[in-house]
Amino acid sequence: MSNNWDIICIGAGSTGLPLAIKAAEKGAKVLQIEADNRIGGTLFWSSGQIAAAGTNLQKRHGIEDSPDEHYEDAQHVANQQIDPTVLRLFVDNAADTINWLEDIGFKPAEETPVAGEAHEAYSTRRYLWGENQAISILDVMKPLHEQLVKEKKIDLRLEHRFKELIMDKAGAAIGIKVETKEGIKEFFGENIVLASGGYAASKEVWNELNPEIPLASRCNPFSRGDGIIAAKTHGAIVDGAEKYLCTFAGWLNDPQDPTSGEFLLLSPKARNVWEVFVNSEGKRFMQEDHQSIDYRERALLKQPGMEMNIIFDSAILQNASPLTLLDNEEYRNKFGNHPTFVKASSINDLALKLGVPQKNLEQTINDYNKSVEEKNDKEWNKYFLIRKIEKAPFYAVKAMGITVLGPSGLAVDSNLQVLKKDGSRIQNLYAGGEILGFGRTSGNAFVGGLSLTPALTFGKILGEKILSW
Ligand SMILES: Cc1cc2nc3c(=O)[nH]c(=O)nc-3n(C[C@H](O)[C@H](O)[C@H](O)COP(=O)(O)OP(=O)(O)OC[C@H]3O[C@@H](n4cnc5c(N)ncnc54)[C@H](O)[C@@H]3O)c2cc1C
Repeated sequence: MSNNWDIICIGAGSTGLPLAIKAAEKGAKVLQIEADNRIGGTLFWSSGQIAAAGTNLQKRHGIEDSPDEHYEDAQHVANQQIDPTVLRLFVDNAADTINWLEDIGFKPAEETPVAGEAHEAYSTRRYLWGENQAISILDVMKPLHEQLVKEKKIDLRLEHRFKELIMDKAGAAIGIKVETKEGIKEFFGENIVLASGGYAASKEVWNELNPEIPLASRCNPFSRGDGIIAAKTHGAIVDGAEKYLCTFAGWLNDPQDPTSGEFLLLSPKARNVWEVFVNSEGKRFMQEDHQSIDYRERALLKQPGMEMNIIFDSAILQNASPLTLLDNEEYRNKFGNHPTFVKASSINDLALKLGVPQKNLEQTINDYNKSVEEKNDKEWNKYFLIRKIEKAPFYAVKAMGITVLGPSGLAVDSNLQVLKKDGSRIQNLYAGGEILGFGRTSGNAFVGGLSLTPALTFGKILGEKILSW
């Protein structure tokens, strides 16, 4: 292949894979640059929950649905904060994406479609996933992609890290600079697509784009924001930080490393809440077992550092299932042996170890125990009042709102062409996937499937259409 491609795609993840497959099937000369030593990107990490209206799956279940209803529903959950252009493009094309995945072998899990699962429910059953999280999606795209690479229809370069855009004098993108083991290489092409994902793995980029938001993340380590920063250098709009919402909730495996986040089992469907949650003042701040995950996320978001302490006693440790994904024995052994998992002989000792005011924590636990006794939590309305917190030793898990995505990203038009601050477009430069920012595709809430499905869909659209635009 010559050094002049029809399409240069940066990234071989959720957006880059359908893009390269579709473009190569249409006969385009495709160069695909991937920093990792394998394809797949965040598909190795993602839960793989996706959503679309008007899918064949819905039809088989007799569910009537339309892109307009999906649009309204998504904006409702997201408090009308989703970028209207991006959402319109997405809802109108998402069903085609899921039908295509099914055509190439993807099997929706038997219990799907559902209205809601990890996030606030839609008003109809349009939410689905495969048997093996997002790997189920990767597994059906990978053989097609491999075949096209074998046939030299996709020129795939692994362990190539995109660093910079090359622009002509008129400000159009004409090529890229890439870091490789052999040094910096340059590649030139007609259309350049940034499909390099988000930035929640980079402390530096996070602090540059979201200085106000503490970082605690669990994501693909290659989500380092290279594409966003490169486009920003050439005047691209990068916005969305104000739409940040944390997940509920997680802990840091290494408290010194904000990207070492792990999930806690605190969503409404995960388990009953035997514990109480206190803030840095040692006071309760939410109904711990409120049925809305959105309520739980927003309550934590308001706490300093998005941090809370989960408090319980030895009887609860014995009876309740673990708060983490660790097995029972590993979980119990953590207490007193890991900075996140605190063990103390008394409530006062626990307060001391957590750095919260002793009087407040004592009062909080006394008040809570009274509520359990009366089976009535007047202050916060917690309904799972099964046990007092009274039997030493006492325990706490230091928890926080963690993220799997970056809220900020690039603005695009209805052809996914990158927009500049002055309102113009960067010629030949397109973007799709998490690089657009979670705020753009999902507003200031978690709308089911509204990161992975737009990534797949925009990749597919770009692959099918970019040469005709
Ligand atoms: C734990 C977790 C659970 C999730 N669950 C869901 C869910 O259930 N539903 C949902 O909608 N969303 C979910 N998401 C989010 C969703 O999966 C991602 O937003 C989406 O997969 C991102 O797709 P992408 O193509 O933009 O990025 P990626 O899939 O990450 O692809 C980007 C690719 O670009 C490569 N790359 C990065 N920088 C460079 C560079 N400089 N040069 C070359 N290559 C580069 C990366 O290595 C990667 O392969 C989840 C995310 C996580 C982390």
